[in-house]
Amino acid sequence: MTKQLFIAPHTLKKQAKTLIHYWPQTIKTTRAYQLLCNLYGFSSLHQYQKQTKHMVINHYQSQENAAYIAEQFSSLANQLSHLGDISFADAKVVLYKIWPKYISNKTYSASPKEHQCTFFINGELTDFVQQPKISYAFDRFPAIKDSIEAIGIPHTEVGALYVNNQLQPFTYQLNNNDVITLYPVRDVLNQHQATNLPAKPISRPHFILDVHLGRLCNYLRMLGFDTLYWNHDLGDAKLAALAEKEQRIMLSRDLGLLKRSNIKFGRWLRNRKPLLQLKEVSTLYNLKQYIEPFSLCIRCNSKITSVDKTSVKHLVPADVYTSFTTFNQCSHCQQIYWHGSHVDKMKTIIHMLEN
Ligand SMILES: [Zn+2]
Repeated sequence: MTKQLFIAPHTLKKQAKTLIHYWPQTIKTTRAYQLLCNLYGFSSLHQYQKQTKHMVINHYQSQENAAYIAEQFSSLANQLSHLGDISFADAKVVLYKIWPKYISNKTYSASPKEHQCTFFINGELTDFVQQPKISYAFDRFPAIKDSIEAIGIPHTEVGALYVNNQLQPFTYQLNNNDVITLYPVRDVLNQHQATNLPAKPISRPHFILDVHLGRLCNYLRMLGFDTLYWNHDLGDAKLAALAEKEQRIMLSRDLGLLKRSNIKFGRWLRNRKPLLQLKEVSTLYNLKQYIEPFSLCIRCNSKITSVDKTSVKHLVPADVYTSFTTFNQCSHCQQIYWHGSHVDKMKTIIHMLEN
């Protein structure tokens, strides 16, 4: 660097402290000063002190420095990485911390990266990206889950991932020039793909639904699928913790929720209409084989069992009591069910799912 940056001594002192704190290895104070002085165009701390001795660093000067630092961020980071023998990514972090007000997040994230890899994206995972082949630049060696989500795909949508033709888990750390191939959960559930990722719980599927999916919840419970749902916002953290604890499949149209790492199984619903959502979920998880109509309470998700007709005489309208012979009751909330018109409706829905 030919340009000399004049930094006030008290600022330089502060910067040296910050550098020591964020430097990837232990570094001595004298070496920290030396590096900063070199970076700012002085041969040594002594030369810096000599040249700045009688100087007053004014506001105008600071502004000029700021503009220069922001503009030359990548090149300065590159110099610091050579001067200090650290990686470019580490140098960027150190510089970013030294000049917190001057280097914006935008400048930082737009700066060149150390490494790059290529993603090949298959099947319905292309719903989340612009094109099926993506070059991705990154610093250091991030876990692959974070990189998959950075390109826009929630990890719950990925059924199988290969790195350089080897199956890998989400904890795999990306390396320079890796070639990654992603397959959707659907391909694994169809048994078209081998995997070592969780795609769905081993047992009969049970669900947890995001707040906007009330009608889908009713359908799933009607078909006998254990489904947790609240019609008020429980908060993403609580929903995710419940999904994890009870190994439930999270259904949502919120990408951010599905990116939470403790959610193992989940689906970002492509459809907005409840019946189409039911069809989507049923096809994906092959629900037909598990349907048990009217075994769960639609109101509270508890088991319902048949009850003696006389026991509900005063609990249902008189015309209902005379017209029907079979009554069921929820073991938890005591809601009473009888075979009304909703049975026909349910039959139509089951027929739709089977075709
Ligand atoms: Zn109930």
